[in-house]
Amino acid sequence: MSESIAFPGDKIASIEEFEAGYNTFDDGDMVRASTVGEKNLDKTSRIVSIKHPKMLSIPQVGDIIIGTVAAAMSSMIAVTIDYINGKPTTSKVECVCSIRNLRKKNVALLNDIVTLKILNHLNGTIHATIDEPNLGVLFTKCRKCGGKVVQMRDAIKCTECSWIDERKLSTNFGNSDFVHL
Ligand SMILES: [Zn+2]
Repeated sequence: MSESIAFPGDKIASIEEFEAGYNTFDDGDMVRASTVGEKNLDKTSRIVSIKHPKMLSIPQVGDIIIGTVAAAMSSMIAVTIDYINGKPTTSKVECVCSIRNLRKKNVALLNDIVTLKILNHLNGTIHATIDEPNLGVLFTKCRKCGGKVVQMRDAIKCTECSWIDERKLSTNFGNSDFVHL
């Protein structure tokens, strides 16, 4: 139901058919949205409500996210989520990803753009994996000079200073259209 996004004031249903639920109001004729979000018309209870994007911004197990590395440590990375299944999110939810069992020195570095798959939610922390071919770094820069890098097998090489570095690259690395995967 991703197409069913409502904007504030949008008519969602007639009050003869539905009652106003969360994030909606009744103008005496129609139920209208009071916030932007996803329409939810519950035919059983006959209540229409709007799921606010904040409620949509927690990724579920199996979701593919794209985000920005906010912290890179030797055993894990923390990633601020920018897209969930291709949909932008602005709530800055973070997930963590263990990189301990990847035999690489630099799996991903600070500010790299990475794609991950959500594994589980444990004690309020969202855990993700990077260990699949399509998962990994989508965009990065040279660690030495900030220059543009190109892929060389499973490494990257700077086009400016020729520095060669490691990353766990996604098979979609270098695809500038990565948002629409
Ligand atoms: Zn460089």
